[in-house]
Amino acid sequence: MDTTDYEVNQFFDINECVPVREGYRFVGWCTSPSASDASLIKNTGNSDWIVDWAKDTYNRLQIDSYDIQLYAKWAKEDPCAKGHTPQETLTQATAESDGRIVTKCSVCGKTLSETVIKKASDICLSDTSYTYNGKEKTPQLVVKDSEGKQLNLNTDYTVTYAKDRKNVGCYDVTITFAGNYNGTVNRTFTIEPKQVNLSKVKAGRKKITVKWKKQAVQTTGYEIQYGTSSGFEGAKTVTVSKNKTKGKTISKLKAKKKYYVRIRAYKTVKVKERSVKIYSSWSKVRKIKVK
Ligand SMILES: [Zn+2]
Repeated sequence: MDTTDYEVNQFFDINECVPVREGYRFVGWCTSPSASDASLIKNTGNSDWIVDWAKDTYNRLQIDSYDIQLYAKWAKEDPCAKGHTPQETLTQATAESDGRIVTKCSVCGKTLSETVIKKASDICLSDTSYTYNGKEKTPQLVVKDSEGKQLNLNTDYTVTYAKDRKNVGCYDVTITFAGNYNGTVNRTFTIEPKQVNLSKVKAGRKKITVKWKKQAVQTTGYEIQYGTSSGFEGAKTVTVSKNKTKGKTISKLKAKKKYYVRIRAYKTVKVKERSVKIYSSWSKVRKIKVK
């Protein structure tokens, strides 16, 4: 910019000449094109700075020029000098991955804060298996994040239980996340048939006859297991597919051998379109020597 215009003995204050640039604040005039702080003219009201100008222009051999060239010094204006404009962005956590809340200034883009939302990776039912007793089952649900902090029902998630949770079957508990969390997660629990016990075990020639009290309720049939090992390694299994049956003779056994026998009930139910057998726990083991 053409800056100083003077006639002999007639100066004007160059600082009265204030240029304007959007987004910048005018700092002052400089003698050097780099507009360094050192070259900033401090006493614009008198002619002292001419010496500096002469020094700065010496290398460019303008010492004898009557035109004085000055350079505007600018400072970038801080749009957030009076404070930032916070804007929050939420990335919800899921059961598998952490989320975060990032607060940035919507004007200058500066990150003002960042909070990690730990994933809700610890989802447990108080019970995953029950024995049928005709009563509705509602296991308690505990949802915690990966650091063990408990999530809040209705704020962070809601729970839906499958309907009619009385009979033998597999039941879904569905967790639907909300708020800072996203996604749905299923947990299942099972109601098993009541246990059946062997009421009589009788030895015969190379055979045994077992009897039990029939279980008509929530039972499709029975499974009898027998073998010569008390731990039932290599044991054989016989399925009795009617719940009305109360006894069974197992033959073709080895004479004079000791056998171990146990029984359990099962019910065939549909789980996601598939037929699945749900078993009771095993009865007490009975021991008998075959004749
Ligand atoms: Zn800002």
